[in-house]
Amino acid sequence: MNTESPSRQPRTGQPPASPPDTLKSVFGYDEFRPLQAEIIENILQRRDTLVIMPTGGGKSLCYQLPALFFDGLTVVVSPLISLMQDQVTQLRQLGVRAVFLNSTLSHHEYVSTADRLRTGEVKLLYLAPEALLRAETLRLLDDCRLECLAIDEAHCISQWGHDFRPEYRQLASVRERFPHAVCVALTATATPRVQTDIRQTLGFRNENEFIASFDRSNLFIAVEPKTNVLGQTLDFLGAHPNRSGIIYCATRRQVDSLHEALVEHGFSALPYHAGLEDESRKNNQQAFIHDDVQVMVATIAFGMGIDKPDVRFVLHVDLPKNVEGYYQEIGRAGRDGLGADCLLLFSYGDVDTIRYFIQQGAESERKGRQKRLRAMVDWATSGGCRRRELLAYFGEAYGSENCRACDNCLKSEEEQADLTLPAQKFLSCMVRTHQVFGIGHIIDVLRGSRARKVTRQRHDRLSTYGIGKEYSAEQWKLLAQQFTQQKLIARDMEHGSVKLTKTGWAVLKGEKVWGTPVETGEKSTGRAVPVNEVAGYNHQLFELLRTKRKELADAADVPPYVIFSDRTLQEMAAYFPHSTASLESLHGIGQAKVARYADIFLPIIAAYCREKGFKENPKPARRSRSASGRSNSRSREVGERFRNGESVTRLMQAYGVKRRTIVSHLERYIQSGDVLTVERFRAESQLSSMVQEQVLAVFDKLGPDFLRPVFDALDKAVSYEELLLMRIIYRLQSRDSGR
Ligand code: ADP
Ligand code: ZN
Repeated sequence: MNTESPSRQPRTGQPPASPPDTLKSVFGYDEFRPLQAEIIENILQRRDTLVIMPTGGGKSLCYQLPALFFDGLTVVVSPLISLMQDQVTQLRQLGVRAVFLNSTLSHHEYVSTADRLRTGEVKLLYLAPEALLRAETLRLLDDCRLECLAIDEAHCISQWGHDFRPEYRQLASVRERFPHAVCVALTATATPRVQTDIRQTLGFRNENEFIASFDRSNLFIAVEPKTNVLGQTLDFLGAHPNRSGIIYCATRRQVDSLHEALVEHGFSALPYHAGLEDESRKNNQQAFIHDDVQVMVATIAFGMGIDKPDVRFVLHVDLPKNVEGYYQEIGRAGRDGLGADCLLLFSYGDVDTIRYFIQQGAESERKGRQKRLRAMVDWATSGGCRRRELLAYFGEAYGSENCRACDNCLKSEEEQADLTLPAQKFLSCMVRTHQVFGIGHIIDVLRGSRARKVTRQRHDRLSTYGIGKEYSAEQWKLLAQQFTQQKLIARDMEHGSVKLTKTGWAVLKGEKVWGTPVETGEKSTGRAVPVNEVAGYNHQLFELLRTKRKELADAADVPPYVIFSDRTLQEMAAYFPHSTASLESLHGIGQAKVARYADIFLPIIAAYCREKGFKENPKPARRSRSASGRSNSRSREVGERFRNGESVTRLMQAYGVKRRTIVSHLERYIQSGDVLTVERFRAESQLSSMVQEQVLAVFDKLGPDFLRPVFDALDKAVSYEELLLMRIIYRLQSRDSGR
């Protein structure tokens, strides 16, 4: 299937008009992602370029688009054969002439591919480094006009990277042989040492380096205490019906047992770990990529070489060994930019297990590994913004005080409960047992357990024995998580016992503790905000289109996402295009896709609309990008409707959500630079104007970033909901007065 007759290619190889035009006409996208435009410009100026971008940032486009502007050939070096084939398939779907040369080709296929390369009709050639270095290939390239050499996964050049490949180092010699070709190196690994290594090895002189933000704003990140793996996993999966996702476990054994349990509960799941036969590993991976199976239960052996853009969740049921690995694993979710949910189940038991293995391992590695584990634990038990702390770990400062897409940030805006009493019970139980036990034991004592460990220590005679029966063990774990996050207690990494901190002692002496109420017993459902989703698309039509997509994909033996992304189908199911022109206005649809699929998808949409009496609902013309571009489509929609005169109450009814949700949307809307007037909000407030002034004065004194202190300063007389609204007013006024 690598030899495709040129007549099926809609593009003629003529230079396209401009990069933004080509972005739409070929790739079907309206806007460049951050840095893409600058990088492409730089490459087109024939300046060697180093690109550091997180997974899913959109690296491929950075060399694929310039390749269409060069008269000659772009060679892409990539270490993984499966990814190479995937990209070539996707490019062909876009009508771009792309080929690969690797060991899977028959002799005949090789010869015909080589012929096509010599005629100059091919725009992109994908190769593994060892294939490129072969004398035969180099001679072939002498006959082509090599204009650009793109080196993907460029960290493989460096011994300091996590995936050193000796062949990569020899790429320097290829550069010498083709001195006129501009070189672009791309990686998601950003340590300065690796970067320097890449530049030096490739001999980048007028090197231009582009480092994108590592923030993945569409990932919702949360951590929960691990209480019951299967129960929590089932709850979490229940919240993501029919969506692709990965569950990471620490060991093969856990993979197998969780996989079995999920299948027993009727889920579509497959296992993946190094203990499986090569063949079944490959098959399972293919099944996942082709949407034949929903969930992959895997060890971290799974994921490299997977470009599936529509992974909607990543669940870690065991603690990752370090933050680097964790971030890479969750990075596999939501490459398409739509919202995705990442949940980690945390337990100190896992910390002890990993510590044990570090002790058993090479001594030279011990210190570094321990340090990285420590950082992982600190992050998982922190009460701060998950996103800010992850980015800080990678040396990046996060701009906003509340990311709105992590558990801790959402909690900080939730109503807070007085947790002083349970905290005091917990802490005094720790004191009575001399602070030498772990959290589990304290909970046993509080709940009046008859466990041997409790009675043997005579802890059933303590005054704190059985005084905490009002909470379940799970609820106590959630409480203990908050006590840790608020640094009332600290765990000794060595012995696993918990100790009181200074703050903890202060609480025993009467200081108040506020936190998230646990009575509600929230489930492990994840809370992916529908980032970038098309507002109000028709789910029934979406499913019809999805079925069609799968059918076409199976017939062509390609993954469904190669045909259309979820976002594209959502837009079809929201705007009901009836003509090729409106079809082409949708996300991810360029000329080639229209030519290929209009006749198949338009009739389905038309038939559905006839049956339901729906009309085409033209896609709104693109607005100029808002200041930070962060307001998502729902917030924008809510903001716009509010601006056009609808009240908060009206919007609550329209969307079937709480007042607070609407207010949050409005807050996001104005934060992205959109304008709303203060008066509208004043009218929405349920506070008297006197109280409003009081609240604003407190914001002036304490700043608007955290609501808790403001709530306290007002003697808890003003609800959080009203405070949120007042904060908008406060910010609008500050903006107006240029404060
Ligand atoms: P990376 O190689 O950096 O991990 P990819 O190149 O695979 O990321 O891109 C991730 C996804 O984003 C792909 O599905 C790609 O089609 C999509 N994408 C890239 N650029 C854009 C853009 N400007 N607009 C919308 N989607 C894009
Ligand atoms: Zn956050």
